[in-house]
Amino acid sequence: MATLFELGEAENLMAREVAGNFPDARGRFGPYGGRYVPETLVPAHERLEAGVKRWLRDPAFVAELEDQLATWAGRPTALTYAPSLSSRWGAEIYLKREDLAHTGAHKINNAIGQALLAKRLGAKRIVAETGAGQHGVATAAACARLGLPCTVYMGAIDCERQAPNVGRMKLLGATVVPVTNGDQTLRSAIDEAMRDWVSDPNGTYYLLGSAVGPHPYPYLVRELQSVIGRESKAQMMRQTGGLPDAVFACVGGGSNSIGMFYPFVADRGVELIGLEAGGRGPALGDNSATLTLGRPGVLQGSYSMLLQDADGQIQETHSVSAGLDYPGVGPEHSLLMSIGRVRYESATDDEALAALSECSQQEGILSAIETAHAFVGARRYAAAHRGSKILVCLSGRGDKDMPTLQKTLLKGQL
Ligand SMILES: *Cc1c(COP(=O)(O)O)cnc(C)c1O
Repeated sequence: MATLFELGEAENLMAREVAGNFPDARGRFGPYGGRYVPETLVPAHERLEAGVKRWLRDPAFVAELEDQLATWAGRPTALTYAPSLSSRWGAEIYLKREDLAHTGAHKINNAIGQALLAKRLGAKRIVAETGAGQHGVATAAACARLGLPCTVYMGAIDCERQAPNVGRMKLLGATVVPVTNGDQTLRSAIDEAMRDWVSDPNGTYYLLGSAVGPHPYPYLVRELQSVIGRESKAQMMRQTGGLPDAVFACVGGGSNSIGMFYPFVADRGVELIGLEAGGRGPALGDNSATLTLGRPGVLQGSYSMLLQDADGQIQETHSVSAGLDYPGVGPEHSLLMSIGRVRYESATDDEALAALSECSQQEGILSAIETAHAFVGARRYAAAHRGSKILVCLSGRGDKDMPTLQKTLLKGQL
């Protein structure tokens, strides 16, 4: 990675990231990010950027967001000490319980925030994309809450794989459109939502689900998800008297992780570690480990690390967890890796499933399979740092994963 930079530039970038100076005026996180969109999409993004600048620091907007988070979405979520995992792993383990947030994961923090913003910007309807359906469900719920009609694009293959979430979205009043173009999964769903947005950029708002895409989305999503890290930091101080030694989160597009990490970036004594989906192994197409195995390139409006073959073709990805199954990653993570502030590792499907099983049986918490990747990282760290204090972002609950768990951990048992 160091080859991307002039000598000394990594240190310079680190200082600017620690000072909270990214993204810059061009929407860049060092060399990453930006806005690679067709000319026709530029005005819509510029309007959104102006709206984000204005409303995110408007006291009445902030108060309304905080009220929705507290009285509707169930914040603050608990910080839970995990006594059994702690004694088994030989470290103090704390879990930030995003599984307790409304609709069962951190995604609601972003969905309700952007839906409120859409109203301020005068939008009459919302479009969104969804892969596994979690972001679609959170968006459908937020739109119902605020009285906004909502259309969710979902790859036809995903509609079939995640049928219960299609039903949840419909019950929440959303229109679900199966996408039969391209790969018929998340990537084509994003393209389709973008297309819908461009056809009516004033009346329609595109509610993007992770810290990816063109500027200002990675910034907007980070700001809305940082409530995770801010709450965690205050809870660690109050419940344990100090900051953790290390913080873990799983990385798909990178929203729960950037939300958890960002408030800790300036705390240089706190190690930050992101866990990607190692899938079946490191071979092409067998994983979704974008940062640990990818190379930089442009995908869906942003320059970031990317899983691509030698010709620059986007790779097929695999993960047992649908929420991590994406060939790209948010640009701020690419910067944080290049400057050495966050370390990224991967956990395989099997490791994640074993960790999910351990956590549910030891602590009575059935986490999402995505989350379980973070447990794998925490456990490895504990083995090398006995007695350390570890914070893990428990990004969501595992109920949605029952069909997959029936076919894996429960296979042959029922
Ligand atoms: C969607 C999802 C993820 C992955 O998305 P990020 O944007 O990387 O956070 C992780 N955990 C859960 C429970 C999810 O629903």
